[in-house]
Amino acid sequence: GGSASVSMVRQVKLDKESELRVEVPNDTPLRLRLLSGTAEIFGAELPPEIWLNFPPRLKFAVFTWYGATIEMDGTTELDYTADETPMVGYVNVHAILEGRRNRAKASSSNDSDSSQGPRVIVVGPTDSGKSTLSRMLLSWAAKQGWKPTFVDLDIGQGSITIPGCIAATPIEMPIDPVEGIPLDMPLVYFFGHTTPSNNVDLYKVLVKELARMLERQFSGNSESRAAGMVINTMGWIEGVGYELLLHAIDTFNANVVLVLGQEKLWSMLRDVLKNKPNVDVVKLQKSGGVVSRNAKVRQKTRSYRIREYFYGLANDLSPHSNIANFSDLFVYRIGGGPQAPRSALPIGAEPAADPTRLVPVSINRDLLHVVLAISFAKEPDEIISSNVAGFIYITDIDIQRKKITYLAPAAGELPSKYLIVGTLTWLET
Ligand code: ATP
Repeated sequence: GGSASVSMVRQVKLDKESELRVEVPNDTPLRLRLLSGTAEIFGAELPPEIWLNFPPRLKFAVFTWYGATIEMDGTTELDYTADETPMVGYVNVHAILEGRRNRAKASSSNDSDSSQGPRVIVVGPTDSGKSTLSRMLLSWAAKQGWKPTFVDLDIGQGSITIPGCIAATPIEMPIDPVEGIPLDMPLVYFFGHTTPSNNVDLYKVLVKELARMLERQFSGNSESRAAGMVINTMGWIEGVGYELLLHAIDTFNANVVLVLGQEKLWSMLRDVLKNKPNVDVVKLQKSGGVVSRNAKVRQKTRSYRIREYFYGLANDLSPHSNIANFSDLFVYRIGGGPQAPRSALPIGAEPAADPTRLVPVSINRDLLHVVLAISFAKEPDEIISSNVAGFIYITDIDIQRKKITYLAPAAGELPSKYLIVGTLTWLET
């Protein structure tokens, strides 16, 4: 007693198999802890009694299998409990995947087919909960000691690195509800645009490169081979988007296709994949908790992801401002300008612009506020097939003195002088 301040601490009791859905406000963080019972956030168990800090804008659910009491400190944009969730269906999928992992592990590692664990691909329209389901499957597997590989093909709202990239990383521990995917050493390919329609051929080339690289890593690592992978995809499922899903299923040799929230997509994929007896196409219910995001929110989220890359989630990183001479850096663009659609050309004619042609870019003011990728390539002709080391952000171009100022995660020389530019920009706020 005696305190003048109004306590904003409150408790929520959750019955078994129910969840507390929370939206953190845009400007204030939220503290939350598990008081009693057991609960998890998207597959990662909450530690008992320890306060967790959730940053602004985060949307999540605390789910309990057996019942729990949660304590919250702070205001929320929205919070409510729900006892209808698709979690039982999701955990049943996990159990089947576990069986396949165990079988793969037990088989002789010489046989490449039987020693391969499940290759799961999660597909569905935008805002169907694909990233969230991927995260749960990975966290549940990691909790049981597996190190599954997470592959994120979503160049718009991916969760491994900045937008405009496809990436993969092993998941060795349940994914932290606040920190997200650890950024240790992901394998990243830079597409440079936030929608594949800017260069569909390039997108396919990069998906193939990523798959080839993972295949190579798996061949020397029976542990990660048995753990398998979980592949998250884009929400674009019509026309070219659908074609890209089929391309991804094929390229990664996916053997479990999880379809979220759309009957039509499930039936289309089931029909087209029915002559592949070892591929299971499974329909799963979308969670009522998934929060829809409009174009503006998506744009904002992309911008925050880039900010997070340089400054950290809690402003805990200090990026370095560096200056280089124009002559020190070699900037390339992949694909020569906008392509004429094939349908607009005379029969038999090829589009003039080769979508995977490497085009040198001269440094000028157009590069201001652009985010560039640093290629691991040793020669320019390796750029398309190479993954990237990281990113820089151009903050100033001095034409007279031929100097370029950029923000990089660290001080010192860049790992390579070959940079890739796309259409990815950022306005530091
Ligand atoms: P995209 O269209 O970008 O591919 P998606 O299908 O991958 O989206 P998610 O990113 O998984 O969808 O979910 C969208 C948002 O909803 C995320 O902020 C996620 O944290 C939130 N969310 C998902 N499930 C729940 C839930 N059960 N309760 C509360 N929030 C949730």
